[in-house]
Amino acid sequence: MEEDIRVIEEKCTGCGECLNACPFSAIKILGGIASILEGCNLCGMCREVCNFEAIEICEFGVTTKNENYKGILVFVEQHDNSLTGVGLELLGEARRLAARLKTDVWAVVLGDKVDGLGEELISYGADKVFVADDSILKDYQGDAYSQVLVDLIKKEHPEIVLIGATDIGRVLAPRVAAILRTGLTADCTELSTTEDGYLLQTRPAFGGNIMAQIICPEHRPQMATVRPRVMKKAEKDPAHKGEVIRFIPKIKEVRTRLIKTIRETSRRANLEEAEIIVSGGRGLGSPENFKLIEELAEVLGGVVGGSRAVVDAGWITHSHQVGQTGKTVSPKLYIACGISGAIQHLVGMKTSECIVAINKDPGASIFDVATYGIVGDLFEIIPALIAELRCIS
Ligand code: FAD
Repeated sequence: MEEDIRVIEEKCTGCGECLNACPFSAIKILGGIASILEGCNLCGMCREVCNFEAIEICEFGVTTKNENYKGILVFVEQHDNSLTGVGLELLGEARRLAARLKTDVWAVVLGDKVDGLGEELISYGADKVFVADDSILKDYQGDAYSQVLVDLIKKEHPEIVLIGATDIGRVLAPRVAAILRTGLTADCTELSTTEDGYLLQTRPAFGGNIMAQIICPEHRPQMATVRPRVMKKAEKDPAHKGEVIRFIPKIKEVRTRLIKTIRETSRRANLEEAEIIVSGGRGLGSPENFKLIEELAEVLGGVVGGSRAVVDAGWITHSHQVGQTGKTVSPKLYIACGISGAIQHLVGMKTSECIVAINKDPGASIFDVATYGIVGDLFEIIPALIAELRCIS
């Protein structure tokens, strides 16, 4: 079991007893408070002699002294040195939680030459921003990203860590939680706090039929991944003040080598950020008919989505799947073509501003959430829509 040592600053008087007791000369008094140095081997002699119970050694992640963990840390993803929407949504949510828990909001951003993002994150409400700059962090690499994040969490002891449930967040968060031996609630749709100050994490369970509420009472930090587009983005406030801490991380081992990054073409990607999505379902009948969906998306300047049925059939890749086991989207316009409206699909798109459903079955569940419903054959309706839109544009 991995262990961790820390000095409880509020209790330490700087008396120096621990310093004399340490056989490894691994304690210094800095600014009137004991500070543990790298040579520490967790022998515990310092804790034995401390009359103020100011030194704590615990199995990392497991603690009975939760009050020693403070602050909400948000992992903010960047792509090509631009902040992603979900990171800003998490910052907004962290600010609301921090107000209730009376704590600070911290952000961490990893990348290559991402220096400028620190100040930007302060303006979005972070009180402290940790910026790790290294060429190896340019694109996501599991080993490197998890090492940096784990080291930071061990050093700063945040009580809550929030990560976006993106393709990256969904692999990074479990890695980090496993190394720290703490709990993780994946794919949350709502966060709140209990009266005792625990993070109350809500997520769909049992096929979206119930909402489970989960707390993590005995392990720290409390970790959650949150779906993009379900929280309100932080507002920019240029007057907000904070501190940017830049550091070059110590990355010991990276077992993979990134050879090439292949980006999907714009009409087929970035569902979570899109304002217009045209989605196709099994009603399309065959993969070739997806051309109709692509053409309608193109004339509208939108992107292509799909139901799980068409992803499972191999008509389109998983990155386009909308729903419980795909992406949660909330565009201005969502057009569902030949999609029945199973609950698992609806949980991923029902918060869209305007939903247009095209289905030949008037009893299809998709019509229950649709703003406009068109009952009819999609092979007649979509070409007519495309022709009309081409005339207008
Ligand atoms: P169908 O249900 O077969 O619907 C096809 C529709 O097309 C019908 O309503 C039909 O009336 C209509 N249609 C047929 N021909 C035409 C035509 N010519 N013109 C107009 N309309 C036509 N599903 C998701 O989508 N996303 C998820 O993330 C997801 N996660 C899941 C997780 C779990 C644990 C489980 C158990 C299921 C999940 N599913 C998910 C699957 C989900 O339950 C449905 O099976 C799936 O959404 C159905 O896809 P569909 O609407 O394309 O197909």
